[in-house]
Amino acid sequence: MSESSQNPGQKSGQSKGVAKGAKESFWDPIAGFGVTFRTMFKKVVTEQYPFEKLPTAPRFHGRHQLNRWPDGLEKCIGCELCAWACPADAIYVEGASNSDAPDADGNSQRFSPGERYGRVYQINYLRCILCGLCIEACPTRALTMTNEYELADTNRADLIYEKADLLAPLLPGMEQPPHPMRLGDDEGDYYRGTTR
Ligand code: SF4
Ligand code: SF4
Repeated sequence: MSESSQNPGQKSGQSKGVAKGAKESFWDPIAGFGVTFRTMFKKVVTEQYPFEKLPTAPRFHGRHQLNRWPDGLEKCIGCELCAWACPADAIYVEGASNSDAPDADGNSQRFSPGERYGRVYQINYLRCILCGLCIEACPTRALTMTNEYELADTNRADLIYEKADLLAPLLPGMEQPPHPMRLGDDEGDYYRGTTR
């Protein structure tokens, strides 16, 4: 269709479109730079990690910890419930029996106050998704999670944490197992903490 054969309605629509396009091409950059300008005066939210570390939420799921009783004995009884609860098959436990009979050197063979303890305990952080199901399954609160989140490493082997890596540090008044129960005459005293 030639230009001369266009009807007046079509011509009017085209001219409106051109005017609208000119208006947008004028205002859009101004609106865009307006966002930039406003943002320049806002508080900067960039976190300077790892130079400045912000505290996590109190219930953040970080690295696990194997807890101790106040005399230093281990709370883990080697029951494997945590390993069975883990959806990622990230935990490996081997239990063994405690013994109050002294070994050849006269040392106690007691690592936890009950019958059994966790002889081998491993968490594979290449598999762990930090879901926390294992700590829910633990019947003795031996296993909890800390707020530590810096778990990256440069090789796979170091991401399998052994029992020694996971055990809570010895606090004042605690003694490195194995040793006899120190907090009373029987298990009732021990667990209630009634005798020292
Ligand atoms: S936090 Fe979840 S994935 Fe990690 S070891 Fe526990 S149950 Fe398994
Ligand atoms: S950490 Fe808890 S659930 Fe896991 S083996 Fe030890 S006592 Fe059992």
